Amino acid sequence: MTRTYKHLETKVIHAGEPDPLIHGSVSMPIFQSAMFESRGQASYHDIKYIRLNNMPNHVALHQKLAALENAEAALVTASGMAAISTTLLTLLVPGDHLLAQACLYGGTYDFFAKDLSALGVSLDFIDGNNPDSWKEKLTPNTKLIYVETMTNPLLQVADLRATVEFARAHGLVSVIDNTFASPVNFRPPEWGFDLSLHSGTKYLNGHSDIVAGAVIGRADLIERITHKLNHLGGSLDPHACFLLHRGLKTLAIRVKCQNENGLRIAQFLETHPAVEVIHYPGLESHPGHRRAREMFDGFSGMLSFEPKDGVEGAERFVRKVRLPIVAPSLGGVETLITRPATTSHAGLSPQERQTLGITDSLIRVSVGIEAVEELMEDFDHGLQLS
Ligand code: PLP
Repeated sequence: MTRTYKHLETKVIHAGEPDPLIHGSVSMPIFQSAMFESRGQASYHDIKYIRLNNMPNHVALHQKLAALENAEAALVTASGMAAISTTLLTLLVPGDHLLAQACLYGGTYDFFAKDLSALGVSLDFIDGNNPDSWKEKLTPNTKLIYVETMTNPLLQVADLRATVEFARAHGLVSVIDNTFASPVNFRPPEWGFDLSLHSGTKYLNGHSDIVAGAVIGRADLIERITHKLNHLGGSLDPHACFLLHRGLKTLAIRVKCQNENGLRIAQFLETHPAVEVIHYPGLESHPGHRRAREMFDGFSGMLSFEPKDGVEGAERFVRKVRLPIVAPSLGGVETLITRPATTSHAGLSPQERQTLGITDSLIRVSVGIEAVEELMEDFDHGLQLS
């Protein structure tokens, strides 16, 4: 019998764990075996083999992740992009049309605009804040609507309720990239989304030492996506499964600390004389604050800001701070900073960046779990002229 648990803090520890424990092992053992003895499986997809996403380390993770978002099912993948590409390649065929929020993660944008369009799937972007404008973009072939919980790097929060309502009204599959929020702060299936995607590389694992992904949601869709992944081959290997499993055990405690540190740093930067603008959905001044407060249990450790003296100030800050590591990822226990104009959004033209509101002086911060007083001291030092 599968046990159920009430709270996310309990689920990260106990949900999906083998019962009884394997040889009493408190930690999930790594099943480092490519294939398993045949037991007369009738279907190809049931043969036990790592690429078929069904060995014990996969199964434990699938159950844990589904429990974390109160979903019917889950699937782990070899990267966040494997989760995104396999999901979209399962749900869309040539001739289909897709609606996607403007300002997506760069890899997702490229996959939609270049790879999917080369396969004959057409695409229109929508303004996440303006649901009234979405209907005019619908075509008879529109099959799917795609949003992110908080956009990168400006932390915009789309009208997520309207997204689900719109999808239901027009028979679309609703898909959300929930990487920035993590299941601690937002659980899309609870709000009616069909599928929630994650780069497990970020908050889910939390230790910046693996690349992984996850698809969480409706069981009928997860089964189809699993069969597609079985063919495409983007399966998570057992050792990465083990690290993700271990990382997940501290997800709740890490993200709660990052929520607190993120809010404290955002408040500190908001009143700092050397800061021009700050983007953090936990601040009342953020345009998406009311929506975020209503739907999210926390605002994450992600924020972005611009120093007052432009690119020079941004370069000085990045050079002077001692604790943050300059690296273009997020969600780890260490504080990371990056300048989107020179990294994640360098592929866009200056004009495109300007239209999206991404200035050359914008600094994105993924706040870690260090002592927040020490981080603030360091940020203050980075913002001083001398
Ligand atoms: N989704 C978001 C929001 C991301 O930020 C990223 C990576 O930065 C991805 C998906 C892709 O994840 P991965 O690098 O694990 O493939």
